[in-house]
Parts: sequence; structure tokens; C-alpha cells
Amino acid sequence: MEIIDLEICAARKAIHPALIKGDGFNILVDACYPGLLHRIEKAASLHDLSLSELTHVVITHHDFDHIGSLAALKKQYPQVKVVASDKDAPYIEKKEKSLRLQQAESIYPTLPLEERPQALRFHHLLESVEPVNVDRTVSDGEAIVDGVFVISTPGHMPGHISLYIPSHKTLITGDALVYRYGKLEIAVAEYTLDPPTAIQSVIKIGKLDIEHLLCYHGGYYPGDCKTALNSIIADFEDS
Ligand SMILES: [Zn+2]
Repeated sequence: MEIIDLEICAARKAIHPALIKGDGFNILVDACYPGLLHRIEKAASLHDLSLSELTHVVITHHDFDHIGSLAALKKQYPQVKVVASDKDAPYIEKKEKSLRLQQAESIYPTLPLEERPQALRFHHLLESVEPVNVDRTVSDGEAIVDGVFVISTPGHMPGHISLYIPSHKTLITGDALVYRYGKLEIAVAEYTLDPPTAIQSVIKIGKLDIEHLLCYHGGYYPGDCKTALNSIIADFEDS
């Protein structure tokens, strides 16, 4: 099995969907911002993969930077099975209103007038993400394919999942952890719906046998994972 950081340049900074290539499967983890299917195709081709060979796309959570190109991908490559947590599926399918949109709408009345036009553009962007049918829902501990396990990591969003590959001592974190400005941390508070639960997820991650963390925002963490995880937990307890 091979775990690849499919680094893709988006509008402002790179994002890092993962590609897991194995015997009989090719799994993409997260589907980028809207309008980036061509970049996913190009990034995969650099690793000798045509998306017509893709078997699964796993969505860690329903934020627009993770599901933006999912509908286009599924239309172009209908063989791909869309996999998400049972808690997140209704939002991806738009049977429930996006939690991010609910959050944005709830803070809108508190915003200064000059920030409201930009906030409305953000609402419209969230509303514009097309629904996609989830082919398979998964829960904590379940194997997506042999050797690739779902770890439920709520906090950033309630249905957030990460993927654990014990044979490679690797966790694909989604947004349970981000690597930015040289530091491993939980996603910024304004985007983390439940910070105490996010820290519980960090504690849970710390109990796994891992040496590598692949963060959607920031890529592979280059330092010692356990030390960094312990320091996130200690900082939270001190705050
Ligand atoms: Zn994200």
C-alpha cells in the first residue's frame, strides 16, 4: 500500500488530499474546493493514476473545501463509491442544512455592517455546493478496505472522521489536526464547532500507534507526532 500526499494548489494556499493506492483499490481522501476536479486529475496523473481507476472517495467532513468538487468527480467518474460517516451523510446529501452554513447564519446578525457583504458571499458559496449521494456510511473502527480504518474524530464537526493505516503507522487527519506556521494544532476555534471534543479526539489519536500525520491543511507533519500531540493537549489544559 502507498499513501500519497496529493498536494493541490488552491486559491490561496495548498491543500493536501490523500491518495491511498493498494491492491485492488485507490482511495481519494477529500475532494477539494469547488472547481478543482481538473487539478485532482492532474495531481493523480503525476502518481500514475487515472481517476477512472479510483474506487472510493472518503469525505472526512462536509466543509466546502472537502466536498467542493465531489459532485463533479462523481458525475465524471460514477464508479467511485462515496464514503462518509453516518453522521455527515445527511449534510453531504443536503437532507440536512450544512452545519457550517447554520453557524455562519447564526453569527451574521452580530457582524459589523462592513463585514456582512463578504459573509453573504460565504453563505452563497456554501449553498452552491451540490448534493451528492453517499454510497456507504461508516463508523468508528470500521475498515473501508483491508488495513484502512475509520477513526471517529469529532470536534471540528460532529461527524468528522480520520483514516488510520496501522501498517504505515499513519493517520490521515482531515481537519482533526492542522499543520500551519510550523505548528501542529487543532483547527482554529472559529471553525471548530466543539473545541473540548476536538481535544478529546486529539487524546484518542495520541493513543494510536502512529509515526506520521498527514494533515489536509499543511501536509505531512515533519516533527515527532507524539510530542506535538501532547503539547496540544497541555496547551488546552492550561488555557
Ligand atoms: Zn478544511
